Amino acid sequence: MTVNEKPSILQPPAQPISVTEASALVAGHAANVLANPPAEIAACELARASGRVLALPVRADRDQPPFDRALRDGFAVRAKDLLANLHLRVTGQLRAGQAWPSSRAALAEFEAVEIMTGAPLPPGADAVLMIEHVRFLQEAETNGQSAARILPQTGRTLSPGENVVRRGMEARQGEVLLQAGRRLRASEIALAAACGRASLDVFPQVRVAILATGDELVEQTTSRAEILPHQIYDSNSYALTALVQRAGGLPFRQNAAPDQKEALSASIQRGLAAAPLLLLTGGVSMGKYDLVEEVLDSLGAEFFFTGVKMQPGKPVVFGRLPASGERTARYFFGLPGNPVSAMVTFRVFVEPLLSSLAGEQNWQPDVALAKLGGNLRVKAGLTRFLPAFLETNGSDPTATPVRTQGSGDLAANARANCYVIVPEDCDGLEEGQTVRVLLT
Ligand code: AMP
Ligand code: MG
Repeated sequence: MTVNEKPSILQPPAQPISVTEASALVAGHAANVLANPPAEIAACELARASGRVLALPVRADRDQPPFDRALRDGFAVRAKDLLANLHLRVTGQLRAGQAWPSSRAALAEFEAVEIMTGAPLPPGADAVLMIEHVRFLQEAETNGQSAARILPQTGRTLSPGENVVRRGMEARQGEVLLQAGRRLRASEIALAAACGRASLDVFPQVRVAILATGDELVEQTTSRAEILPHQIYDSNSYALTALVQRAGGLPFRQNAAPDQKEALSASIQRGLAAAPLLLLTGGVSMGKYDLVEEVLDSLGAEFFFTGVKMQPGKPVVFGRLPASGERTARYFFGLPGNPVSAMVTFRVFVEPLLSSLAGEQNWQPDVALAKLGGNLRVKAGLTRFLPAFLETNGSDPTATPVRTQGSGDLAANARANCYVIVPEDCDGLEEGQTVRVLLT
């Protein structure tokens, strides 16, 4: 495709919308995407499944726990025997991994069996008396057999079921424990492993094309001796690579494209050929050499928003190129060139769409509440994401703003571990106030 030489009229006009409206637009597309989850499903070994998205549900292979399980070290007893306040005869021992011998009868009156956490409760027993709640009596000789005797602490009683998890209380055989669409983290993987699964059915990882743009950008292969004073190293494509990886995607990074239509168009088309989602950085502001929208427009893009009332991140662009031939529709984001802006807009807008493309249901942003560790003064009218350091120190989590030179200040950004979110209509926040933070 050739690139139009004259600037075209963009639809809709570059009227920034609020973060809430922009998020709703992204969420709408994310929901559409989720309505048709990826068709391809592959088996993935459990040890490699972290971060993948489950494509088929995981069911309980049997009741969980599969037997009445002791929750404590102590003595398996009949709870009602404790009401007599008499000693109990200890007639055996059961540890985890041991079965009650089929030759043995159920627990008789005033009988106890020493039991370890994780062992199956012997028949007849209905509770576990914790070892800490027992006094030991002398070994006694009964009918020529020696048996230890125990006496529960004075007044110590048990209800049936105490310190025991009954068979099937956690899950019933066949019950769905993990729905398709779950992002697999340690908790999900542990549960699948507990059900005997060695592999899980997962969706493919989403490829994400990444393209930084700007004449000033050079690769890290350019040495310090070679780099010219007006040039800078491209950091955005690496920040985005890391963010895509963390979100479970497969980055396809290209070298930066210059602010020149033909070259930009060629790189954009390479990205679109490689991935259903393209992330561009730079060239989306109002400057004379900000050509990204123009090139995308010439390729037939529709734009869902071209600017959001936020700081950092105001010039952010979201749109889609229609399906053509074999190729499915391609979503794209034109992220601002400023490095902090690119990262914030990724977290706010790209991540939810990327999760949906991956088939993940119920994605949630990493937002938490914290106390503000200093006063913040801003001009109302933009939602702000201000770098801050969140620490707990045994008290309420406190987010202290980090001194920054603005959205290009990568050093300050690296000193922060969250962004304090200042609502659009707000012109300041006071120290000690509860604020929302986006964790980095
Ligand atoms: P732009 O959005 O193209 O106007 O760029 C805004 C600012 O971000 C400028 O100072 C650029 O030099 C800087 N910038 C753009 N792209 C990158 C990048 N890939 N890595 C680091 N800085 C960048
Ligand atoms: Mg630029």
